[in-house]
Amino acid sequence: MTERALVLLSGGQDSTVCLAWALERFDAVETIGFDYGQRHRVELQCRQQVRSVMTQQFPAWAAKLGDDHVIDLGVLGAISETALTQDAAIAFNADGLPNTFVPGRNLLFFQFAAAVAYRRGIKHLIGGMCETDYSGYPDCRDDTLKALQVTLNLGMNRRFVIHTPLMWIDKAATWKLGHDLGGEAFERLVIDETHSCYLGDRTHKHAWGYGCGTCPACELRAKGYAAYHPGG
Ligand code: ZN
Repeated sequence: MTERALVLLSGGQDSTVCLAWALERFDAVETIGFDYGQRHRVELQCRQQVRSVMTQQFPAWAAKLGDDHVIDLGVLGAISETALTQDAAIAFNADGLPNTFVPGRNLLFFQFAAAVAYRRGIKHLIGGMCETDYSGYPDCRDDTLKALQVTLNLGMNRRFVIHTPLMWIDKAATWKLGHDLGGEAFERLVIDETHSCYLGDRTHKHAWGYGCGTCPACELRAKGYAAYHPGG
């Protein structure tokens, strides 16, 4: 039986590593992305670039990589006042959550992913959520996603399985996982083509990739790279 998967590909490091992970495990893999008015819209171009470089440099993966779906979720940006969708300084709210938190974003993403998967006969849904060194987003929690899997299966009368291969590993281990999956070439792809910076900065290049170097996403990515590559 052909095992088919749909990867939530944002264009960032985590989801790109998840895409490689899925291409190693499943017979056919499609990708889905969301345009929700994010400030770092440049990631929407990066995700296309990730797919294209993967196709050129990894023939075994190219054979399994199928359609890409881009969903317009502009309504999410319109109803959420956050530093990820508006021109505001990144700060922490009274409840300890950074104001980059877009309420329920991942719930909505999986809902739409499941709707696409339903139509295309796909069982496995894959996301790069992580509880280990995340910013405290409650919709990244393992329990949230396990509950969501049950909800989706009940609400759509299907058997979806949500996979989160990065849930219990830190950023350094994510760099290592990428290397284990695709070697130097894939690490280079992650550095050159993926985007994590919340401010959408692609003018400053560091050893770990492009970004402002100071926003929470850049700090996390740089810290993980330094731990994975001590001394350089
Ligand atoms: Zn940044």
